[in-house]
Amino acid sequence: MKAPEPFEVLDIRKQFPILSRKVNEKNLIYFDNAATSQKPQCVIDALSDYYSRYNANIHRGIHTLAEEATLAYEASRHAVQEFISAAMVEEIIFTRGTTEGINLVAYSWGRQNIKAGDEILISEMEHHSNIVPWQILCQEKNAILKVIPVLDDGTLSMDDYQRLLNKKTKLVAIVQVSNALGTVNPVKEMISMAHQFGAKVLVDAAQSAVHLDIDVQDLDCDFFAFSGHKLYAPTGVGVLYGKKELLEAMPVFQGGGEMIREVSFELTTYNDLPYKYEAGTPNIADTIALKSALDFIKSIGKEQIRKHENELLDYATRQLEDIPGLKIIGKATEKVSLVSFILKNIHPHDVGVLLDHLGIALRTGHHCTQPLMKRFGIPGTIRASFALYNTKEEIDILVEGIYKSIKMLS
Ligand code: PLP
Repeated sequence: MKAPEPFEVLDIRKQFPILSRKVNEKNLIYFDNAATSQKPQCVIDALSDYYSRYNANIHRGIHTLAEEATLAYEASRHAVQEFISAAMVEEIIFTRGTTEGINLVAYSWGRQNIKAGDEILISEMEHHSNIVPWQILCQEKNAILKVIPVLDDGTLSMDDYQRLLNKKTKLVAIVQVSNALGTVNPVKEMISMAHQFGAKVLVDAAQSAVHLDIDVQDLDCDFFAFSGHKLYAPTGVGVLYGKKELLEAMPVFQGGGEMIREVSFELTTYNDLPYKYEAGTPNIADTIALKSALDFIKSIGKEQIRKHENELLDYATRQLEDIPGLKIIGKATEKVSLVSFILKNIHPHDVGVLLDHLGIALRTGHHCTQPLMKRFGIPGTIRASFALYNTKEEIDILVEGIYKSIKMLS
């Protein structure tokens, strides 16, 4: 096997055209990667190539363009299968993103399998996308939503998880990596614990798919949802993985073209997996470009990327901790490259505005985790999330910017 190339962040940065732009006359420093990542030239080229050379609808046409588009679209499905180590390509459903994947499971599997009195278990650190669909389902079915508490360090209370699991638990829907804290949850262990009670497990992998090595067979999860745009692919494309036997048994989600085998006014029969869940013309261009993003990640190697990102995390954590009045929220030992923090007597939004003047893009607010913010008794945090193209020099500028903000705002 060829040894991986040494990680050269400056070479990597050259592949992201947006990183050379100025914001407020300063070099852009992009630390909002947990919201969405920037796109490398190969992904931008894949979109432009599709629209300039072989734009056509897929699966139905017999002309050359349709065949080329279909081949590229299905190649992307194979790339995803490999990326998450799924057993079968039929288990890969293309969606608009994590949110749609979770909703698909809630509407289809949920409506078929959840009854009055059943319990669905989520955690206190879930993104709204992994709370609201289950709340809607529970309200409709008279089922009960239970919540695993988060401890002060930003990890899950595993004792409470064990205590909350019981024969009535039908589903555990859990985030693998928290977007607000950076915590990596022990999902493999949690899945095995849930299975002992016969519960199914959905993993929200919106934040984890880009950072961690993913093997859905090893995890033994029942469903696994993620978004392309957080892993250098375009917005509007995501993936829902489901175990084949579950996807086969579930009722269809949306009706329309592509998901059918035969339609008459008396009776409609449905297509095989994965098309059964892909009604209508899909997001062809962005799905094709997803493969370019996965190829890009593969060409560098997740281990190399992780090593670089972990160095950034350690560096940023050390620098930030030294700032008087700054408190990091989320201090788990297993974390991805994301730091959430608050400043004494200063509102996160005010800091965000001042940092924007310095060309620094980061996220302030509740990060779509309002219950988690409530648990910590704060309105929100300032979140710097790092990607493979970020540097220690950029972190130095952030730290300087925070000192300036404290001086101006306190
Ligand atoms: N879950 C987590 C943990 C997230 O961070 C996000 C997005 O920030 C989502 C779900 C929703 O992802 P999307 O908006 O791409 O559907």
